[in-house]
Amino acid sequence: MNIKDRIKGIDRKDYFTQANLHIHSTCSDGKCTFEELIEQGKKLGLKHMAICDHNSVEGWQNLKEIPDFLIPAVEFDCFYMGTLVHILGYGIDPNNEDLLKICAKSKKETQYDLVRLFKSRHPKKVIEAIHKAGGIASLAHPCCCWVISLDFFVKSLKKMGLDAIEVYYPYKRHRGIIKFHSRKNVKGLAQKYDLVITGGTDEHGSLI
Ligand SMILES: [Zn+2]
Ligand SMILES: [Zn+2]
Repeated sequence: MNIKDRIKGIDRKDYFTQANLHIHSTCSDGKCTFEELIEQGKKLGLKHMAICDHNSVEGWQNLKEIPDFLIPAVEFDCFYMGTLVHILGYGIDPNNEDLLKICAKSKKETQYDLVRLFKSRHPKKVIEAIHKAGGIASLAHPCCCWVISLDFFVKSLKKMGLDAIEVYYPYKRHRGIIKFHSRKNVKGLAQKYDLVITGGTDEHGSLI
């Protein structure tokens, strides 16, 4: 099954119970190692789990084999229309050269507070690299995008090839400046622009 169909097949009620597509490890700013997270995912009986470190696929490159419940993923920092944007890549080949070109070259470069370094990382370039690596691109926690019109913003990204949008995530932790950036609104945009719905807890600690 291709990655798009696999993610489309995840039911809304399965998010946070059987599926978590947004987790960070010690390869970026998470507290648990890749191995610890995989063990936790197994214990929880997750059917779809994606560890998406900031600007890094190192954890995936180090894995000898990838169990079926895992989806290779990454989260890129981008800067667009005056706002910070995070774009998730799912189902990527972690050894793809085009993808590795836009990844951080050191642990330090994966850090969130060094995002200025990445101002040159345009979403179009990032989406293209994700596609070249066989993956699909999803807009992470859209309420973090400090834009007046999220509709226009999403429409622009869709034109660049955006495939998906994160709808199920803890909104309280990622409060937007504008009230209408709600889950209902984001879901509406997913339907309007025919984007696959993704979701995850954006966990930086332990899953258990
Ligand atoms: Zn993020
Ligand atoms: Zn994240």
